Amino acid sequence: LSGDNKNFSERERELEKSLRPLSFSDFSGQEKILENLKVFVKAAVKREEALDHVLLHGPPGLGKTTLSHIIANELEVEIKITSGPVLEKPGDLAGLLTNLEDKDVLFIDEIHRLNPVVEEYLYSAMEDFRIDIVLDSGPNARTIQIDLNPFTLIGATTRSGLLTSPLRARFGINARLQYYDAKLLTKIVKRSSEILDTPIHEDAAVEIARRSRGTPRIANNLLRRTRDFAQIKGDGTITKEIAQMALNALNVDQSGLDEMDNRILSTIIEKFKGGPVGIGTIATAVSEEGETIEEVYEPYLIQEGYIKRTSRGREVTEKAYQHLGKIPPAIEGT
Ligand code: ADP
Repeated sequence: LSGDNKNFSERERELEKSLRPLSFSDFSGQEKILENLKVFVKAAVKREEALDHVLLHGPPGLGKTTLSHIIANELEVEIKITSGPVLEKPGDLAGLLTNLEDKDVLFIDEIHRLNPVVEEYLYSAMEDFRIDIVLDSGPNARTIQIDLNPFTLIGATTRSGLLTSPLRARFGINARLQYYDAKLLTKIVKRSSEILDTPIHEDAAVEIARRSRGTPRIANNLLRRTRDFAQIKGDGTITKEIAQMALNALNVDQSGLDEMDNRILSTIIEKFKGGPVGIGTIATAVSEEGETIEEVYEPYLIQEGYIKRTSRGREVTEKAYQHLGKIPPAIEGT
């Protein structure tokens, strides 16, 4: 079974890769960020310098990895990919850095999860394109300096608040990705269904888009699941009826909230009288990691006005009561 799972996720990864835009012109949305990046990339190319280090933040699935590949493509350099938790020792980082060619991109996903010792090494690498390596130990210890090729570090993080200030200060370019509106996601869904060779009706694409939590990765996932329904329950074309059938089967509700979103809202209402309640307490009550709630669920629920953050914890809004068909408690004093 585990072998099947592995194949499944590899296939999913391959599919995700095939849907990835490859150039600035293929990438929808995030206009302000793109406009700036285009200028910075052009200027770096013109000066024949490495692009300044770039920090991309925002919830998962909004295009941080995609954008990093595009930046490397547009710079016509190679990109090496790693992630914070993978770089356990300074040697892991040194190995990567010394293998970079002139002006290459090094992409570090989840950069807020870097080991502090490794992060320390990154400072001089980013600033002076140099690392100090300690050879031997005890009385024989000595450090040697290794010069690196100029490179661009692109760091991605879902939790920019967890980044240390010395690391943050070393990024010249800083961009926060936003959730996508339904119009942009419709465009993305249509582009993806073309790549997947699956016909889709306009109103079906809109339906998937508006129920994707503002997130391209979710839109693409829902499209693929909907395609399965179209092939088994229909004639292969994704119609609005097929899309609705699939989305309901996947427990994505009419407002586009998924099972966990709804569980979080109803827990705050039913167990904690609507809040305020701390993230840790919510997490325990819904059996999910606090970190996942903060990175994935909460930002969207806040943006859509279902939850607000107060100094005493999270509170649901009237919209949350209405959404769940519950009556909000009477306002104090009335
Ligand atoms: P992140 O790194 O922020 O978690 P990814 O870059 O891996 O997100 O994006 C997830 C998927 O969503 C990718 O497969 C890509 O096809 C799609 N995607 C993300 N942003 C866009 C976009 N602006 N236009 C089209 N597809 C996108």
